[in-house]
Amino acid sequence: MRGDNLVPLLKFDQDIKFIQGVGPNRADLLNKELDIKTVGDLLGYYPYKYIDRTKFYRISEINGNMPYVQLVGQILSFEEVGEGRGRRMVAHFSDGTGFIDLVWFQGLRYVMQNYQVRVPYVVFGKPQVFKGRINVAHPEMEKADATLAAQVGGARFQNYQQQLFGEEGAEDVRPVMNAMAATSGQNSSLRPAYNTSERMKKRGLNSNAVSKIMGNVMKMMDRELPETLPAFIINRYGFISYDQALRNIHFPSNPDMLRKAQARLKFEELFYVQMNILKYTKERSRKIRGIPMPHVGEPFNTFFYHHLPFKLTNAQKRVIREVREDMKSGKQMNRLLQGDVGSGKTMVALMCMLIAIGNGFQSCIMAPTEILAEQHLATIQSLLGDMSVRVELLTGSVKGKKRETILNDLLNGQIDILVGTHAVIEDKVVFSKLGLVIIDEQHRFGVAQRAKLWLKNEVAPHVLVMTATPIPRTLAMTLYGDLDVSIIDELPPGRKPVQTIHQFDTHRKSLYQRIRKEIELGRQVYFVYPLIQESEKIDLKNLEEGYVNICREFPDCKVSKVHGKLKQAEKDAEMQRFASGETQIMVATTVIEVGVNVPNASVMVIENAERFGLSQLHQLRGRVGRGADQSYCILVTKYQLTTETRKRIQIMVDSNDGFEIAEQDLKLRGPGDLEGTQQSGMAFDLRIANIARDGIILQMARDAAQEIVDNDIDQHNPNYAVVWNHLKELRKSQINWGAIS
Ligand code: ADP
Ligand code: MG
Repeated sequence: MRGDNLVPLLKFDQDIKFIQGVGPNRADLLNKELDIKTVGDLLGYYPYKYIDRTKFYRISEINGNMPYVQLVGQILSFEEVGEGRGRRMVAHFSDGTGFIDLVWFQGLRYVMQNYQVRVPYVVFGKPQVFKGRINVAHPEMEKADATLAAQVGGARFQNYQQQLFGEEGAEDVRPVMNAMAATSGQNSSLRPAYNTSERMKKRGLNSNAVSKIMGNVMKMMDRELPETLPAFIINRYGFISYDQALRNIHFPSNPDMLRKAQARLKFEELFYVQMNILKYTKERSRKIRGIPMPHVGEPFNTFFYHHLPFKLTNAQKRVIREVREDMKSGKQMNRLLQGDVGSGKTMVALMCMLIAIGNGFQSCIMAPTEILAEQHLATIQSLLGDMSVRVELLTGSVKGKKRETILNDLLNGQIDILVGTHAVIEDKVVFSKLGLVIIDEQHRFGVAQRAKLWLKNEVAPHVLVMTATPIPRTLAMTLYGDLDVSIIDELPPGRKPVQTIHQFDTHRKSLYQRIRKEIELGRQVYFVYPLIQESEKIDLKNLEEGYVNICREFPDCKVSKVHGKLKQAEKDAEMQRFASGETQIMVATTVIEVGVNVPNASVMVIENAERFGLSQLHQLRGRVGRGADQSYCILVTKYQLTTETRKRIQIMVDSNDGFEIAEQDLKLRGPGDLEGTQQSGMAFDLRIANIARDGIILQMARDAAQEIVDNDIDQHNPNYAVVWNHLKELRKSQINWGAIS
């Protein structure tokens, strides 16, 4: 649609350097800093907020709580203060009703060269209080322009100046300015604000400059832009046209039109993400035959009747039934299993693998880390007992002869279950008859990686993705939008919920007392320290210091220490010592998050809890409360916390429900900050929609996309042509989108 000649002056794929006000240098800058190359990219760079610029304030009426103010007045004098990093330029500014300071920490020379004293400026920025004085740091400055000056009149400015310098009887020009702004050429009271980088600002490409460029593009849009949604959708939801939406998102004619533009563009964005996922899903299911597995099989039954160590929960039974239905259907299973920590996903995984084996196929279970892979191996082997099912482990550490044997036996079909890390799919591992792949993951496996997996085999295996951390529904719809969903919403019986306590690190005495009591009762305790890649050294230091303290505090206890810098064998040995009860305290970084199952451990102390994400805290908490006794999770934080952090800690104290915690986390932090979402690519490269807030729009978009995919996957219906064409265009420009099929 876009390629045709409806819009002769403007093509979306045109290089931005030809736009008035851009040129090769700015084009290069926009390209490097914001990845904006074409006119289409530029128009898709929406403002992140809008500011009411009609109103002028008096200095006498502003305070430090106002978000933004616009003033008109003059600089009385400049002063350079401070040294080194504190060096700054201060301009003493007045409008006759009071004084404020304008402050610059950067670009001091630019300020000196460009701004003059005793010339009227319109100043815009955020007022702050510093040492009892109001200042505006890095204000936007504009000379009160010629028409403005002329209308206000030289005499008035004369008066104004006199007023500034202390003479009586001057007129307040502010009402005139207010009236003028309201009627001035600008057609809107809402001025867009665009995000720009430091480098852009330094080179004069600030929000205003971007807005000017947008204005120039708008001038080129002398005809109506072609529509990007089909008429029936526009009518159904009462959307404004694409043309109106795009114009109003950059230059809203009024608040109502801005809201309409936002609604339309959010829908559109989510709709095409869903179209992409659902089209791919539909095509996959048509293209890929599934492996029919008609039998429950002997291994499953033997296990079920003779080896099952406990009664399955109803939720586990239901999920196994859902998986069983998929596996015998003749279609390829692509299922997401969500279940809270400790809900018993491993058992479900094992029983599904036994079905595959009973139908003559091999299975593979992949874990995000070697430690977890090893734990799966141990769990599965002990559950299977003397059953004749061969299970092997394949990770990066399995090398040489052993590796060779495993690869060989996989190819021969002599191995029934392969336990490995995610590396298995990248590797040159070849199965003889792979029937089922289980991914035990932690948000680390996006649509694109899974796509690779289905294509690995000639006949696509069934796939079950298990998430240890429950994900909010809206997130699942994008991140795992191509999967059917099963949920384990019930914990095995007899568990006492873990009691969660928030404690400041200034109150260690009572913390240690509680721990001493637990240890006297024969229980074990974890101390976990955060580990963040960028600050590995500091974290290690924290852990070492903590270790020394704990050894001193608990002289009668044996203490284990595990962190990422240890060799695998050393880690394992320490874990083993703790698991067997030889040591009573485990001091560790988050490596234990996924690694250990020690039912006798009853206290989880998380140091610097403010530095963890909620779902990670929830994961860690799940390491205790595995036995029948009351367990505790103690979140230790510093005393000074931001409001948001305080809220997050409170959520943990209040709730043991992983789903609720995930929802809250999404609301508080937005999708971009949730663990692992960055790696997931496409779903979060959103320009205007917000998965945390736009759940209803997302559901509408998904339903509409599903309807089109169901009705017209072959792309014959002219009513939908606009959708298929636009999707094709988008897939060309969105690199991540192309990756999934
Ligand atoms: P997760 O879902 O976090 O992977 P696991 O599979 O590790 O949970 O199970 C947690 C613990 O609960 C394990 O010790 C497991 O043996 C036990 N378990 C699983 N299902 C049941 C059940 N139906 N009844 C009792 N205990 C169970
Ligand atoms: Mg698990």
